[in-house]
Amino acid sequence: MYYSNGNYEAFTDARKPKDADKKSAYVIGGGLAGLAACVFMIRDGYMDGKKIHLLEEEALAGGSLNGTKRPEYGYIIRGGWEIENHFECLWDMYRSIPSLEIPGDSYLDEYAWLDKDDPSSSNCRLIHHRGDRVPTDGQYGLGKCTGEIVKLVMTPEDKLEGVSIEDFFSDKFFETNFWAYWATMFAFEKWHSVIEMRRYAMRFIHHIDGLPDLSALKFNKYNQYESMTKPLLAYLESHDVDICYNTQVENVVVDTSNGEKVAKKLPRS
Ligand SMILES: Cc1cc2nc3c(=O)[nH]c(=O)nc-3n(C[C@H](O)[C@H](O)[C@H](O)COP(=O)(O)OP(=O)(O)OC[C@H]3O[C@@H](n4cnc5c(N)ncnc54)[C@H](O)[C@@H]3O)c2cc1C
Repeated sequence: MYYSNGNYEAFTDARKPKDADKKSAYVIGGGLAGLAACVFMIRDGYMDGKKIHLLEEEALAGGSLNGTKRPEYGYIIRGGWEIENHFECLWDMYRSIPSLEIPGDSYLDEYAWLDKDDPSSSNCRLIHHRGDRVPTDGQYGLGKCTGEIVKLVMTPEDKLEGVSIEDFFSDKFFETNFWAYWATMFAFEKWHSVIEMRRYAMRFIHHIDGLPDLSALKFNKYNQYESMTKPLLAYLESHDVDICYNTQVENVVVDTSNGEKVAKKLPRS
């Protein structure tokens, strides 16, 4: 997807690059990024799937999308990823990936229709006294601490090197509902870098109304492996991509002798 002036070019197809038929590719890692790279090489780069080799050290693709099946360790639950509506590359990709459940439609259609029919929302986020809803649940309760968040956003990142969240905010801030929502939603700890917190604050600023009740989020029908990885694998398999599992790349031998970086060998086990 290419945004130029407005969305004029966003829905045009890419033109076939010169020599696309002569290209081949080796992608290291079958996580979301590696799978997406293969999809875009096929869809927008017009490459032949047979000439794309995906090298994955695990026995399953998906990477952090938690595909692992380890029944010998007991019951392992795959998570449900929190997704939102400003994932430009992700949604652009899934508009081209066939749904595994709705023949003839894309996984983006399937996802968006599900979200319309069953939008995310939570009637209760904060409880105390073994199950009573906190009376202020639903409100941020920031009071004067709002100014601390504004200060964080207004402070350039290079002034925050080495500063933790705890260093930056007052003790009062950590008593607010905002911190409880924030920390639990994005897995933040007080000792984490405040730079990371600032980046999240700026990335998700448009969700300010939807954090207390989770209406900002979208969820897959199943877990992220079943819902998000499997349709991608089906697409790549249908294009004959060479997916090599249990293949660990141990090194990349790079030749820089002619002023360019050219990967020459991928020793793997
Ligand atoms: C617990 C958790 C919760 C998350 N929650 C969310 C969420 O709610 N919303 C959200 O948007 N994102 C979430 N994320 C982030 C998101 O899952 C990741 O950003 C994304 O999946 C990363 O994809 P990736 O392909 O870049 O990397 P990875 O998924 O890490 O994939 C890398 C792949 O490369 C393989 N590999 C590595 N080294 C080699 C090698 N030498 N040779 C061969 N293969 C190799 C690995 O086995 C792996 O399959 C979460 C992540 C985690 C861990």
